[in-house]
Amino acid sequence: MSTSVLHVYMGGTFDPIHHGHLRAALELAHALSAQTVHLVPNANPSHRSEPRASFEQRMAMLQLAIVNHPVLHADDREGKRFARTGEAIYTIDTLRELRAELGRDTPIAWVLGSDQLAALDTWKEWQRLLDVAHLVVVRRPDAPRVPANIDAFLAPNRASRAKLMEQPAGYFTQVDIPQLSISATRIREMVGARRSSAFLLPDSVLRFIDEHQLYRK
Ligand code: ATP
Ligand code: MG
Repeated sequence: MSTSVLHVYMGGTFDPIHHGHLRAALELAHALSAQTVHLVPNANPSHRSEPRASFEQRMAMLQLAIVNHPVLHADDREGKRFARTGEAIYTIDTLRELRAELGRDTPIAWVLGSDQLAALDTWKEWQRLLDVAHLVVVRRPDAPRVPANIDAFLAPNRASRAKLMEQPAGYFTQVDIPQLSISATRIREMVGARRSSAFLLPDSVLRFIDEHQLYRK
């Protein structure tokens, strides 16, 4: 059995980052015995509408949120790649980039919420994802049921979290963490309606939203 360190990455729009993301990342670091969870904002999400805040603003909010929390790390690789190529950014390409950097033996885990899992078959080359990394799913309140084709694809690869350290890629696992019913959509709506979204996200991020007049109608 290998004793490799698991490298954990969590993608998202983070428009804005909130306590749902941050708690999930911290709980995962603990559950997976990972030293670091890398948060990877998407530059140009191809399967959803444009983020309201720019990549730089979403990155700045992420950095404010994780100050003093060395377990969490902001990774701007998708923004850099978009600036370099101008092409749509897909998770599979990010994972291949990571695989090339970290080497073929390093265990890599990509984290997603259960709402994202239900739409996994819309991702580019979704059936190739497990060739490059493990998939780790955290449950989210009110997530849709996972369609049968996705379930059938993942089922043979289902494993306990302890297995993730034993091979570089190929396992699918679900990690139960306390669920927080917080979404960026609701925060944007609250800001738009001039309602306070305090305690759903860090105060430093709220101040940034206010100073830059983000999400106003
Ligand atoms: P939006 O409402 O704009 O879609 P969001 O709150 O869903 O925003 P995303 O940036 O889309 O946030 O999510 C990034 C990742 O974090 C996704 O994998 C998502 O499932 C997960 N996630 C978001 N909110 C939570 C939460 N409250 N608990 C657990 N996972 C979450
Ligand atoms: Mg979302």
